[in-house]
Amino acid sequence: MKTSTSNLVAAAASPDRNCPLCPRLAEFRSEARARNPDWFNSPVESFGDPNARLLIVGLAPGMQGANRTGRPFTGDYAGDLLYATLLEYGFAKGVYQARPDDGLKLVDSRISNAVRCVPPQNKPLPAEINTCRRFLVATMESMPRLEAIVALGRIAHDSVVKTLKLRAAEAPFGHGAVHSAGVYRLYDSYHCSRYNTNTGVLTPNMFRSVFAKVKADLG
Ligand code: SF4
Repeated sequence: MKTSTSNLVAAAASPDRNCPLCPRLAEFRSEARARNPDWFNSPVESFGDPNARLLIVGLAPGMQGANRTGRPFTGDYAGDLLYATLLEYGFAKGVYQARPDDGLKLVDSRISNAVRCVPPQNKPLPAEINTCRRFLVATMESMPRLEAIVALGRIAHDSVVKTLKLRAAEAPFGHGAVHSAGVYRLYDSYHCSRYNTNTGVLTPNMFRSVFAKVKADLG
């Protein structure tokens, strides 16, 4: 969003490590810390440059992925496909090794999630999605050059649609769909989860086609 980046906005884009706003998720986080004290087990911060033109919005940290490693989409299958695709289209450089210290850099792109804390069964409640949207709004406000947003899955799509103040009926979710909102374009993709790829809902080529379009549009 084309607003100035203030320290206030930057701070608001980062929830506290012990963010209490979703009691169910805070409790789930505490249990995960007790079970695996070496894991990250906290709200996962966005990854990438705030000056990027592309923001990718996922659903929420996976238990064994970002919740374990602390970097979005790092450590589980969804990250394998996402980072391979970003590398292929020049939105990342380096080698993805499923670790936050692998040295991978994002190029003109940033990755965030609609919900910052790991939810039970990967299913945040509507109230939790609504509560955590303040951090998505602040993340987008902290990106002065933002033009393109890729929503991974319907929940991320719906949260971005609300953030952009689009009417839901005017911007229905559909893989490959592109919606305009002022200077922003919202690109929809099925989520790159193992379930979606194993069941054929999403093929790597379908996923690539979304990023090929983003790349062509950004020039
Ligand atoms: S999901 Fe978001 S709002 Fe809810 S507790 Fe985590 S960081 Fe806070």
